Amino acid sequence: MTVSLWIRETVGGKRTYRKPNKKKFYRNGTVFCLRYSVDGKRRWETLDVTNLNAALAARATKEAALLSAVSTVASASAKRISVDDAMGTYLSTVAATRAHKTWLAYNLILNEFRKTCTKEYLDQIDKSDLTAFVVAQKKAGQDDRTVANRLAGVVTFLRAHGITNVTLRHKFTEKKVKAYSVEELRALNAASTDEELQIWQFFLGTGFREDEVAHACDTDVDFKLKTISVLEKRQWNWKPKDKEERTVPIPDSLVELLKVRKAMHPDGWLIFPNTKGNPEGHFLRMLKERALAAGLNCGHCTRTLNGKAVSCKDAACCEHWILHRFRKTFATMHHANSVPARTIQFWLGHESLETTLRYLADAELGSEKTRTQVNGSFAEIDRE
Ligand SMILES: [Zn+2]
Repeated sequence: MTVSLWIRETVGGKRTYRKPNKKKFYRNGTVFCLRYSVDGKRRWETLDVTNLNAALAARATKEAALLSAVSTVASASAKRISVDDAMGTYLSTVAATRAHKTWLAYNLILNEFRKTCTKEYLDQIDKSDLTAFVVAQKKAGQDDRTVANRLAGVVTFLRAHGITNVTLRHKFTEKKVKAYSVEELRALNAASTDEELQIWQFFLGTGFREDEVAHACDTDVDFKLKTISVLEKRQWNWKPKDKEERTVPIPDSLVELLKVRKAMHPDGWLIFPNTKGNPEGHFLRMLKERALAAGLNCGHCTRTLNGKAVSCKDAACCEHWILHRFRKTFATMHHANSVPARTIQFWLGHESLETTLRYLADAELGSEKTRTQVNGSFAEIDRE
């Protein structure tokens, strides 16, 4: 809402307007006018003042009056939004614009939040609701990382409704992801079904993220160049991370495997669809269940599942069997085979080289060079 100040002059019977110059002195009899708009219509108002300072003061007063009129109208007409309505609108927006998996995640998060949030209207929500949510999530046995993710989801929902001052963060320790050893992979492969074996081979040979594997299609494979690309899939509202498409060279063995799969499912499009022909969302569960059945769990992990404490001795919850380790193994093995870090960065689709180097640092720890250095450092005090 801006109000501008003008000086009106009548020259030869014609009215002209010009902006005043604050450094100039205007003689008595100068006509000051205000210009502003109301309901989209331009209005002029002639001021009953004799000097520039009085005119400027009148302009400020007018501006304040118009502003308060607008805000009164706005607050009178603003309807309170109920938490349930806001959640419904938000979820339908997510359903229309984001991947199904994202919708599933938000649906879960907001429903969980609703269980602990007793407020009726959105404007009643404050930090205590977020704290109560965190407490309930921890009590239900969620790990800190999950709690942090869910909390971030609630905060995003609130932001989408213009609530930016209600926020909370939950800290968690970033778990270090280790590459699989050759022995671990061999044991897993030996215990897996043919289908599972192909899935693990695909994860390992492409270094793809989980949702990249889920959305990989036959048409992404270049059988001649022996590469596979990560490409946007509009059918499922799916975009690669950072909207960055990339191409990764894959080993001959994987190319052969993909050829056979394509021949077996000529009408299929997704390489590893779920039973309904849609992107598979349960690779992680498959891996954990296979590891448990094959007796590969470490036996030391504990989790709370449906309020009950379980151990990875007899539950599919071993933290060592996660899909991300395939990606890490992909990087580590290429690194050991002298592929430059910069190239590995492109293949992984990392935005920064820093991230890739952090991935490769562990491989350096076990290298010949590091062994020689570490042993050499203490060589003099070793007994002959
Ligand atoms: Zn374990």
